[in-house]
Amino acid sequence: MARETYENIVIIGASVAGHALANELIPIIPRTHRILLIDALDYSFYPIAALRASVVPGWEDKIVVPLKTSTVFTEFSQHQVIAPNKVVELRKNSIILEKPFEGSTELPFFKAVVATGSTQPSPMRPSADWTGINDYKKALINSQEETKKAKKIVIVGGGTVGVEWAGEVRAAYPDKEITIVHNRSSLLAPDSNGKSTNTTPESWSSPPTAPKLSKSLVSLAEQNKVKLILNDKVIIPKHQVSQGEWDGSFGRQKRGLVRVKTEKGKTIEADYVFLSIGNKPNSTLVRKADSNAVEGSGLIRVDDNLKVAATSDSSPLSGNNYYAIGDCTAAPGFKTAYLGGVQGKVVATNLVNEIKGKALTKYSPGTFTGLVVPFGPELGAGSITLPYLGTWAVGNGMVKSLKGKGLFIDMFLKSFKGSEKV
Ligand SMILES: Cc1cc2nc3c(=O)[nH]c(=O)nc-3n(C[C@H](O)[C@H](O)[C@H](O)COP(=O)(O)OP(=O)(O)OC[C@H]3O[C@@H](n4cnc5c(N)ncnc54)[C@H](O)[C@@H]3O)c2cc1C
Repeated sequence: MARETYENIVIIGASVAGHALANELIPIIPRTHRILLIDALDYSFYPIAALRASVVPGWEDKIVVPLKTSTVFTEFSQHQVIAPNKVVELRKNSIILEKPFEGSTELPFFKAVVATGSTQPSPMRPSADWTGINDYKKALINSQEETKKAKKIVIVGGGTVGVEWAGEVRAAYPDKEITIVHNRSSLLAPDSNGKSTNTTPESWSSPPTAPKLSKSLVSLAEQNKVKLILNDKVIIPKHQVSQGEWDGSFGRQKRGLVRVKTEKGKTIEADYVFLSIGNKPNSTLVRKADSNAVEGSGLIRVDDNLKVAATSDSSPLSGNNYYAIGDCTAAPGFKTAYLGGVQGKVVATNLVNEIKGKALTKYSPGTFTGLVVPFGPELGAGSITLPYLGTWAVGNGMVKSLKGKGLFIDMFLKSFKGSEKV
C-alpha cells in the first residue's frame, strides 16, 4: 500500500511547551497534515521536579519519560516523534536534521514551531550531550549521592531555584550547614510596587515578587536553619585560584573544604556549591538564521500571533513560516510551563486557522499570576494575584497541596497520550 503523504507541521523541542502544542493540535488538525515532534534527546524531562530528583532517591525515575511515537501519539495516528535527532538549521520551507528522517536530513514543512526552551546547568535541565535517558538519570543519582555526603553547602543565588533546592536538602537532611548568598535585600526579587507583575523579566532571575512572599521565605529559611547572606554576591572565579579557594565548580568540591568569597569580603567554607544561576534562552538556531530575530536578552522576538519576527525578506525566517513558544520566546509573561501551555493553545489554533484560511488569534498571558515556592514536600510560601482583587499570601498547607507534595508529576505523566503507557 502506498504511504500517505502529508503536509508537515514541525515542532522543534518536545518538552513542556512543544508537547503541550502537540496535544492541543491532535484533536483539531486536519487529516491532510501531520505533526512531527522533534527533540535532541530520547527522553522528555520535567524541570519542575528536577530539584527534588537531585536530592531524593527514586525521583530520578519520575521526572523522565521515553520520547517515542508510541508514548506521545495513539496507534494508527499519522503523527510521529523524531527523537533523538537535533535540528541544526532553519531554512525558509524546511529544516535540516543531524540524522536522516525518511531518507533525508532535509525536512520540508507547511509551518514550523521553535520550542527549544532554555539552557540551565544540571540538575535543573540535562546537559545537551546527555541524549540518552540514562545519562540524565545517572547525573541525578550522582547529585543525590554527593548531596548526601556534603556537610557545608553554599547556594549561589536566592531566587526560586536556590530557595527550593535549600528546602529539598533541609527536608532530607536536618543537620547540614546551608548558606544562601543572594544579591537582593530579601529572597527572590522583591518588587517595589508591592505586587507580582506580569511583565517579562529583563533577565532569567526570579519574576518580581510580592514583598510579603519574599519575607515569608526569609522566615521559613531562618526557622529551618538556612543561613542567609543578603545584599552580597559570590565572586565566581574566572582564573586559576590558589590552594583552598573555590574554583567556580558546581557540586561537591573535589578538593574537600574550600573558601567561597563574596564581593563584600565575606568568606564561607563549603564542600558543596550549588549554582542556581545561568538560565539562558536557547535561541541559537534562530540567531544563526537571522540574528535580528533575537533580542539582546537572547529571547526570540515574536509578534502578537507568536510568529517569529523576521527582519528582512532575505531572512530564512521570513514568509510567516515560523512560530516560537515557551521559554525561548520574548512573548509577554513569565517563563513558565503554564504560559508555555497557553502559547501552545494559541499556536495550535493559529496553525489550523492557517490551514483553513482563517484569521489568526492573538496571544495574551492573561491577568492571573501566581508564584508558589515549595520548601521541601511539606513547607513553602506563595502569592496569588487576581485582577481587581489583589495579591494573597499562601502558606505551608496550600503550597504543599498545590505543588510541594507531588510537584505536578501527575500532570507531566498525563501529557503522554500514546498507546504505550508511561
Ligand atoms: C526548578 C524549577 C521549577 C519550576 N516550577 C514551575 C512551576 O511551578 N510552574 C510553571 O509553570 N513553571 C515552572 N518552571 C518553569 C518550567 O519548567 C519551564 O517554563 C518549562 O519547562 C519550559 O518549557 P519549554 O518546553 O519551553 O523548554 P525546555 O523545557 O527547556 O525544553 C526545550 C526542549 O527543546 C529541545 N531542543 C533544544 N534545542 C533543540 C534542537 N536544536 N533540536 C531538537 N531539540 C532541541 C531540548 O532537548 C528540550 O527538550 C520551573 C522550572 C524549574 C527549573
